[in-house]
Parts: sequence; structure tokens; C-alpha cells
Amino acid sequence: MSIAQFLESKIEYMKGVGPHRAALLNELNIFTYRDLLQHYPFRHEDRSQMHLAKDLLEEMPAAQLKGKIIYLSSAGEGAKKRLIAYFNDGTGDVELLWFQGIETVKKNIKTHQAIYLVYGKPQFFAGKFSIVHPELEEWTPEKDKEMGWQPVYSITEKMRKKFFTSKALSKITQALIALLRQQPTWETLPDYLCQQYQLMPRKDAIEQIHFPKNIALLEKAKRRLKFEELFFVQLKLLKTKQFRKISYQGQILKDTQLLTQFYNEHLPFELTNAQKRVVKEIYNNLQTGKQMNRLVQGDVGSGKTMVAFLAMLIAIGNGGQACLMAPTEILADQHYNGLKKYADALGITIDKLTGTTKTKDRRVLLGRLENGNLKILVGTHALIEESVLFENLALCVIDEQHRFGVEQRSKLWKKNEHALYPHILVMTATPIPRTLAMTLYGDLDVSIIDELPKGRKPIITAHRYENNRLKVYEFIRSELNKGRQAYIVYPLIEESEKLDLKNLSDGYEQVKKAFPEFKVSMVHGKMNTLEKDEEMQRFSQQQTQIMVATTVIEVGVDVPNASVMVIENAERFGLAQLHQLRGRVGRGAEQSYCILMTDLKISKDSRTRLDTMVRTTNGFEISEVDMQLRGPGNLMGKEQSGLMNFLIADLAKDGAILEEARNAAQTLLETDAHLQKPENALIKQYLLAQKEGNYWSRIS
Ligand code: ADP
Ligand code: MG
Repeated sequence: MSIAQFLESKIEYMKGVGPHRAALLNELNIFTYRDLLQHYPFRHEDRSQMHLAKDLLEEMPAAQLKGKIIYLSSAGEGAKKRLIAYFNDGTGDVELLWFQGIETVKKNIKTHQAIYLVYGKPQFFAGKFSIVHPELEEWTPEKDKEMGWQPVYSITEKMRKKFFTSKALSKITQALIALLRQQPTWETLPDYLCQQYQLMPRKDAIEQIHFPKNIALLEKAKRRLKFEELFFVQLKLLKTKQFRKISYQGQILKDTQLLTQFYNEHLPFELTNAQKRVVKEIYNNLQTGKQMNRLVQGDVGSGKTMVAFLAMLIAIGNGGQACLMAPTEILADQHYNGLKKYADALGITIDKLTGTTKTKDRRVLLGRLENGNLKILVGTHALIEESVLFENLALCVIDEQHRFGVEQRSKLWKKNEHALYPHILVMTATPIPRTLAMTLYGDLDVSIIDELPKGRKPIITAHRYENNRLKVYEFIRSELNKGRQAYIVYPLIEESEKLDLKNLSDGYEQVKKAFPEFKVSMVHGKMNTLEKDEEMQRFSQQQTQIMVATTVIEVGVDVPNASVMVIENAERFGLAQLHQLRGRVGRGAEQSYCILMTDLKISKDSRTRLDTMVRTTNGFEISEVDMQLRGPGNLMGKEQSGLMNFLIADLAKDGAILEEARNAAQTLLETDAHLQKPENALIKQYLLAQKEGNYWSRIS
């Protein structure tokens, strides 16, 4: 039997499993020997040490004892019924307690004769030590040899009810590993890589991750398995990228006349060096004749929109069209209004398409799009509908990428019936941790705008409690008196829309009362676009001084004269959201402030979030903390979390290994792009054996 056949063997044929247990294991996605071997323990227990009853301490997380059970007694009635076993190891007494499964335990315990191994968390109560629901097994001399680090596996509730415990699973796994040992080898990485990165052989790693001889070997085993997992993901992403570069032609966009004209005659400010660099990177891409797939990461306010517009000018200057897709109606409006000023100055046609565009207008617009008269289209998801077709879409800009799925990204490729695929420029609103970017966008080229426009003063952020409210209001007043404007943001309470509005309108009344001498605007998600627009306009034209809002103003809204952002119930917001909201101020030359209001009592995680906001304005740093708090999967939302379903690697913790794995994959592709060298045969074999559609289908 080959190793492949061995690994594919059905789990029910494993000794000690059978059809019933197999059915239970299937629910854990364990169908084959391989699956069981790769059902890694989530922690280990140190069973290498034996404790004495007289040395027990309350603070021990767990203790292991060897001794006899002197007698059993039952106590209590009904739900409080319990079994007590009086245990003694010659140095002292410990009470073992069971509240469930009493009859089974009672039947099996042999008082006096047998020697038992007891394992569990010691508790000290009424002058005695006790252990509730200890692990209990009869001691035999062989057991001494097995003492060591023992695996703890996740199991289902059903398994628990059928006494198919982690311990039972570990026995089966141990037997399976004994079989694996008889197999000649199980390797996926070539020798030279294992040596270069000091990785233990796969077979050893599998054995050590379940039953480590010691902590050092456990760590080595983890490292090996994590490396491998990350290596293959990176290899696939880099291969996709390489494949596209070779295979997909893009329009050659060389002419920069229009760009230069705008640059010299209309550009309202000097570009930052970072903006200049990124525009160059984009231009270098656009003129090669290969399709661009580029991600621009830049902190809030770093000026991504202008970069996108300059790229659009290259597209249009070469006879193409461009579109910009935003995640919300408000943001699409904002982009449209902003870009229209520039476009008008150059005599370039621009229009807007959203879900609320009227049918008649829409028909006209689509016609102009198809005959090429309309050069720039700004919009929401409405852009990806099938009826939206361009004469010659040369560049597609996607703003605030994390709200779009990869699927949607790929739909934009098909917007030209006859011309080549459009170039794609993705702009992220929230910087994401490097490890995530490498995994989610590992197939894209990346540009980073790591500089804010000159003259911006870093926003000063403070955390204030309810009992400081009057002082906070005084401060807002002093800013308003200087001619500035302020946002006051209330959280969405998702469980109840009614409560939401109540929360907001209460806030609105409170603010109006507190600031009778100023005009107050209110914007929320239940207003229609027209109403929202009008209210935004009033605020941005300084007809009102205070904007009371829900998070609808989170993305994009740009009023440089606003210098104060107050966030009410700030503990309810996630870090990314807080950072986005704060980015609404600090857009002008004035010193700006962000005030995070909370009650006195907040959770530990909330405090970490607020402290982080006070400490730094660096979006990358903030996203790191966010990932540590929430885990990579939750950070990015369901759509993309599939790419982060690792067996063992953890993007929040394994950044260093990921860097190594990516380097290894990169080097491999540079030296042996088609995996033709004999020393890379194992890698090729592994890739071929992977089920189709795993990663490939998720990557656009
Ligand atoms: P974001 O990267 O968050 O999308 P925006 O593109 O909305 O940022 O830019 C934020 C503000 O900064 C806008 O008002 C924009 O006009 C302005 N801006 C962009 N680039 C510069 C620059 N180089 N110098 C001065 N102001 C700039
Ligand atoms: Mg933006």
C-alpha cells in the first residue's frame, strides 16, 4: 500500500473506530486516516509530572496523582446528586467528585485494590482538596513509560455524550501513528527546503504534534506544519499572479498628455511624494501591455482619490473609459461630486449610477456608456449589473475594497464585450495587517501611500467619561466659536432599528439644547438619498455647525472645516470603524480632535481598543491590534475568511513564518517556475493532488 492509499483509507476501517464512531468523526470532517492525523490537538497537558496530595496548591492549573480509592459515597438529591470517591496516595486525602455519569463511574471503580492515576484541577474548599470530574484510569507499570505531554482534541457535544472523549480519540490517533511509522515516508517538501528553513520531516512533525517528547519538539513540529501550510497558499497566490502577468493582455496606455495637462493646469495641490511614487507605479503597469491588478493601501486621508483620478486620466487620455465603484451611495455621491469638478475643468464627461438612478436616466446613461460618449462612471454595486456595458473600459477603480467580495471584483473583468480586460485598481480604506494583505491580496501588486499631505497635524484623541460631558461640550463650543464644525456620532444598535433612531434623536435633542446658539444637522440610514444629500450639503456649506449622525458618515465624507469628532458610546464600535470615523476630521490645516465618550465601566477589550485609538493614528498599527483582538477571520468578514481557514497556521501570530514561507515560494517560482526540476517533484505532486477548486475558484 502506498502512502497515498494509506492516507486515503476510510476512518471506519481503523481499529477501534467502526461505523458508529466513524459517523461521529465525520461531523468533525474526519473521513480518512489523513483527516485524523491532521486533526491536531488544540492544546497539550503536561502529564510528565506526578504530584503528591500533600503538596497540592489551590493555584495549580492541574495536578496528576497516583493512589488508591478508599471508599465511595453518594450524596444529595436530584440535580444536586453527586458521587464522592475518597482518594489517598499515602501522603494525603483528596475528594473526587462526579455530578454526571455517576452510575458508570460507580460501576467501574475498584476500591482499595487498584492503583489509579487521577488528573484534574485541584480545588480547596472547607479545609479539603477536591477534584471535580477528574480523569481517572487504572495505573499499570507501562503507563509510566507513556507519561509525557498528552494531546487534548476538540470533540463534538455528541461525542461527549457517547463518552467518545478526547482521551479515546488520542488512543486511536496513537494507534494510527504507530501504523504511519511503518510507512516509508510522508513528505511534501523537498530536502533542500527542509534544511534551509530547518523544518523537521513531515512524519516526525505529525507524530510530535500529537505526542510531543518535549516542548521544544512540539514547537518544531508546529513550525514545520505551519510553514508548509503557508508555503502552499503563497505558492498558489504567486503562481496566480505570475500566470496573469504572462497570460492576460491589457491595453497599452502610454499617452500622458491629458494627465500632464491636468497636472500643470488644474491640480489643486502639490502631490505628496508617496502619491507621486504610486502614480508612477501605476503608470509603469499601464504601459506594459499586461493587465494591471494593483492594490493601493493608504491610510485615511492619504489622498487615494486623487491617485485614482490621475490613473483615470491616463485611461481616458488613451481613448478608454474609466469607472469607480464605491461601497455606499453616500460615498459614491461624494466621489462623483469631487471628481466632477476636476472632470468639468477638463471637459471630460462623467456620470453617476446607483440603485436609485431612475429607469429613464439609466437607459440614457447606459447608451452613452456603450457608445463611448461617457468617459467616467462613478457608482455603487449597481455598476456590476450585467446590463452595464462599456464601449472600452480601460480602468476600473474599486474603492474601500474590503466590502467587495472577490467574486464581484472578477465580474468587473467582463465589462467589455470586445476590448481586453480592464486594468484593475483596488483601494483599501482600512489598512490591513501585512500578514492578511499577503494572504488576501497575495495575487495583486501592492502600492502603499505611507505619507499624509503636508500641513496636516496629527489628530489629538482623548477618551472621556459621561461625567466629563459638560467639559466636553465646553470644549466643542470653544472650537465652534473659532468657526470650526463638529461631528457627533451615535452607534447603530443592530438589534433594534427603533432603538437606533431613538438613540439618535435623543442625542439630537440633547445637542440642540446644549448648543442653542448653533445650527444642528442630522443624518441617518433611514433617510432617503435626497434628504441625506441635502443635509450633508448644508453641513459642508457651513449652514450648520454640528452634524449628528450614525455611522453613515463613516466612509469618505470630506468636510475639511470639521475639526471635532465626538463618538458616543465609543465602546460599541470596532477599531476599524473608530479609525474610519476619526478620519473624517483632520482633513484641513487646523488642529483636529477626536473625543471617545464611554461609561465608566467598559470591558477589557473595549479598553484596549480605546487605548489604542488614543495612542496612535497609524492605521496599520491599529489594524494589527484589531487582528490580535478579533482574529483574522472576523477582521475581514465572511466572504474572504475562506482563505484564512488554516489547519494550524494563525495569521495573527505566525507573521514571521509567513514571511519565510512567502520568500521560499517566491524563490521557487523564480528558479523553477514550472516546477520541472527533479528536486521540486514533491511540491508539484502535492499541488496536483490538491482537490481542484480549493483556492483557484476563490481567486478572481
Ligand atoms: P482617502 O485616502 O482617505 O480616500 P482622500 O482622497 O479623500 O483620502 O483625500 C483626503 C483629502 O485630502 C481630500 O480633501 C483631498 O482633496 C486632500 N488631498 C489629497 N491629496 C492631497 C495633497 N497632496 N495635498 C493636500 N491635500 C490633499
Ligand atoms: Mg477615500
